[in-house]
Amino acid sequence: MLATTVSGVVGTAAPASADACFTWSRTLSQGATGADVRQLQIRVSGYPGYGAVLGLDSSFGPATKAAVTRFQQAYGLTADGIAGPQTYAKLYALQDDDCTPVNFTYAELNRCNSTWAGGAVSAATAKANALVTMWKLQALRHALGDRPLGVNSGFRSYSCNSAVGGASNSRHLYGDAADLAAGSQGFCTIARQARNHGFTQILGPGYPDHNDHVHLATPASRHWSAPTCGI
Ligand SMILES: [Zn+2]
Repeated sequence: MLATTVSGVVGTAAPASADACFTWSRTLSQGATGADVRQLQIRVSGYPGYGAVLGLDSSFGPATKAAVTRFQQAYGLTADGIAGPQTYAKLYALQDDDCTPVNFTYAELNRCNSTWAGGAVSAATAKANALVTMWKLQALRHALGDRPLGVNSGFRSYSCNSAVGGASNSRHLYGDAADLAAGSQGFCTIARQARNHGFTQILGPGYPDHNDHVHLATPASRHWSAPTCGI
């Protein structure tokens, strides 16, 4: 029997198409919980508001609603803080089959090795941290006009970190750090805008050894310093 004869299927908002990475099967709004909420939180983690970080706790609370609303506003969607077909369609368009956002890759976030091993956390955690960082970078990139944003260094094993003279407690060891090139935006424009996209660590021009890149990461406590940029 054809699926189209099943009551409730015809005319409903089924997923536009199966997505190779992840497909949401229900509308999500405040109060929802589950693994699909966490998948949504990862993808809107770049929209927590100034100085904030969105918790990836699988629970759709006020902060998640606000992040979804900011995401919707950023892309000209109906900004109601409810994730439904229109929001999912945009997320599907923004993600590659490996769940990375379209303008960033795992390879770009790890020029050290192919295994994500040898850092301060497990390989799986380092790679998962890098994924969240990429979604934040995608939000930052979009906010700055969708112009290319280059990552010169991401995850580092301890040996890779030592080889480049990284700090012994560098966030690069955790996979959540990204060192950005100036691009056409300029270091200070990037550093200032990054304050809105979920980064607790922003180091740039004027901070020792950071005149040639902007370092973004997400340690537990905030440390922003780019004196040349007024940060
Ligand atoms: Zn760095």
